[in-house]
Amino acid sequence: MDSFGGAVNNEKHLKMSTAITCSACAASCCQLEVLLMGDDDVPRYLTREDRWGGTVMRRLDDGWCAALDRETRLCTIYQRRPGVCRDYEMGVGDCLVEFVRL
Ligand code: SF4
Ligand code: SF4
Repeated sequence: MDSFGGAVNNEKHLKMSTAITCSACAASCCQLEVLLMGDDDVPRYLTREDRWGGTVMRRLDDGWCAALDRETRLCTIYQRRPGVCRDYEMGVGDCLVEFVRL
């Protein structure tokens, strides 16, 4: 079973984590739903209302967030990116799943 549990796999996990960087990634996590919070200050044209009345980052037909530069794979609103994006940690947790997804 390929899991990150146990001492041996913890070592594997560590090696994988250190190899994972955003510059080596297809910005996989920018295909996830990003729910905006009260303090977020994102240009409105990049957002939409979800079915529950919340505000989320708008995604285009290709699945990526509308704020992502398609060529550089960089966030075009980095200084104003939502809290969810600020809190998303590279190399751990969900990132490990997203990094290998694309
Ligand atoms: S999935 Fe991880 S490595 Fe890829 S862009 Fe997001 S934080 Fe960076
Ligand atoms: S706001 Fe920026 S960091 Fe957040 S999902 Fe969109 S492109 Fe990615």
